[in-house]
This record gives sequence, structure tokens and C-alpha cells, in this order.
Amino acid sequence: MTASNTRASTEPRETTEPVVHILWINAGLSCDGDSVALTAATQPSIEEIVLGGLPGLPKVAVHWPLIDFESGPMQGADPFIEWFYKAERGELDPFVLVVEGSIPNESIKTEGYWCGFGNNPETGQPMTTSEWLDRLAPKATAILCAGTCSAYGGIHAMAGNPTGAMGVADYLGWDWRSKAGLPIVNVPGCPVQPDNLSETILYLLYQVAGQAPMIPLDEALRPTWLFGATVHEGCDRAGYYEQGQFATEYGSPKCLVKIGCWGPVVKCNVPKRGWMNGIGGCPNVGGICIACTMPGFPDKFMPFMDEPPGARVSATASGAYGAVVRRLRTITLRTVDKEPKWRHKGRALLTGYRAPWS
Ligand code: SF4
Ligand code: SF4
Repeated sequence: MTASNTRASTEPRETTEPVVHILWINAGLSCDGDSVALTAATQPSIEEIVLGGLPGLPKVAVHWPLIDFESGPMQGADPFIEWFYKAERGELDPFVLVVEGSIPNESIKTEGYWCGFGNNPETGQPMTTSEWLDRLAPKATAILCAGTCSAYGGIHAMAGNPTGAMGVADYLGWDWRSKAGLPIVNVPGCPVQPDNLSETILYLLYQVAGQAPMIPLDEALRPTWLFGATVHEGCDRAGYYEQGQFATEYGSPKCLVKIGCWGPVVKCNVPKRGWMNGIGGCPNVGGICIACTMPGFPDKFMPFMDEPPGARVSATASGAYGAVVRRLRTITLRTVDKEPKWRHKGRALLTGYRAPWS
């Protein structure tokens, strides 16, 4: 795959260097929390990506409402929406389509629309988000779903919702492949962990530039290096779990499983990575894991703050085993918490040295 010589709104006008465009639709059903989260990314930051501050990165033009200051609704050098029309006409190649928000089912009502983005130039009527997907997906080099809503539907797709909301893979099909052969890439989280998103954007840009192998994804289309381990495996409180010490109220440093933490069965790296610049990360700072990166979120994990179903069994087992381990460790701790015998408190001068011939 190679990048084309297309002019970009965030690039100098006369550039002849290849440009990879990022078209960001945040017009799905969402709170824009993933866009807000990305502003906190540090490894890399979105500024480093946009300004080309990383070695080997192709020139990038990001058409994202949060930072595309050059474009405006009608003012500015270009109307923001114009870049999406260009992509639809096949005039932007390559481009990565980022989708934020879940996709409602527009066919389950008789009038109106659930969500849209700009107007259809032919009719002057609002263009629904799903119609944008229909038009842009065949032309995109890659599709990246930012956050759980666009990945799996999220909160909008809870049972009983009136919109029929779903994730992009539910809409386009889980076997969907871009014209470059890439599957949909999901970076879930409610909201997404900032660096998980910026790092995946970076990976895709390198891949589009032909500098990275196929992005490794799990069955739920998440990058495996980010979502291969459970919250529990990276949690600061896992030592308490192993010793059978459980919090019964908030404010305790102990394991939170009895007050509703789903960490043992949730794939997420947030406790290891922290939230912002390495700091924070749900259970590390006292919040139960509510499983926001999982395809079954939220229905399968509700009601929140109740003890998860398997937790009683595992916590009981760990409570019994942990009590024995704690007792044995207390004995060992008493021994190792003292200086070795030769460093005694008497007046005689001794050392730990023993001549090999003695
Ligand atoms: S707080 Fe949650 S993730 Fe952390 S050790 Fe306890 S159960 Fe595991
Ligand atoms: S630790 Fe749990 S609640 Fe926190 S971001 Fe990860 S999956 Fe979501």
C-alpha cells in the first residue's frame, strides 16, 4: 500500500509529499468521550501524530472536529464535511476511517433519523451515519472503531433500547475486510484508554505506509498486545486477592471483587498502563472494573456493584487458601525482617566473611 499525493486541510497547500488522511466520524450514538480521551494521550500524543513527530511516520492529515481548526462548518479554508465528500467521490486515497459512537438501525422507524452527519448534497437532507458508512467503507483503507459504542454498541445497545444500536462490525459484518484486506479494528473502552487509541492509530498509519505487518487482532477484533491479559492480571490489588483479603466498602486498599469488580474475567490493560501518562487505572485507584471493554458490556455485567457471579466461589477459595498463605508468610516475614545472626547487637566485631579453607 502506498500513500497518494492528495492535499490535506492540515498540510501546507503546495505539498507534494504523500498524505494519509484520517477521517473521523463522531456522529454515531455516543458522548464524544473517546475524542475527549484522545486529547490525554501521551504515548504517543495526538499532537505527535498530527505534526509528524515520530520517525518513519507518513504525512498525516487528521480531519477530526476537535483539532481541524483550518476547516469550518462554512468558514475556513474548506467546509469540514468537504473532506468526507472527497473521500466518497474517491478523491482521497488512502484514508483511515475512524468511527466513534454506535450505529443505530435506521430501518426500524417510519420517519426521521437517529443520527447523521452533514447533508446529502443531492437532496439537501441529512445524511445518516449508517449511510456514510455504506458510502465510505468500500473506499477506506482501514476502519478503526474508537471506544466500545462503535466497537460493540455499548450503552446505547442495551436491551430494550429504541434505536436498535449496534457496533460497526455488527453493521458491516464481522468478516468485513477493507479494500486493503484489513479487518475492522476495535479499540474498546468506555471511554477508550487514551494511549491504547493513539498507539493503534499509529500502528495503522505505519501499516498503511507499508512499514508494519498485519495488525494482530483477537476474535473481538481488539489488538492482541493491548487486550491479551485480564484486568486482574495487571491489578495493583491482585496481591490482596491472592491472600484472600477483600474490601467490603470503598476506601479500602484491598481487592474489590466482593463489591463488584469484574477484573478476573475482563480483557483490559488499564491497571497496567494507567489512565493518563501512567497514572490511575480503575481498580488501582479504587474503582471496580465494570468490564467496559467487553462485547457483552453493559448488559452481561449488570447490576454493577453487586458481587459478580463467579466471585463468591473464587473469593471463598482464595479466602481459605489465602488465610493459610498469609499465616505462613507471617512466619517467614518475622524471620526475614531481621538482620542475619552475625550482625548482632553485641559489642564483639563480627563479619559475615568465612574463609573458604575454614
Ligand atoms: S480489584 Fe478486581 S482486578 Fe484487582 S485484584 Fe481484585 S478482583 Fe482482581
Ligand atoms: S479496568 Fe474495567 S472498567 Fe476500567 S477501563 Fe478496563 S474494562 Fe473498563
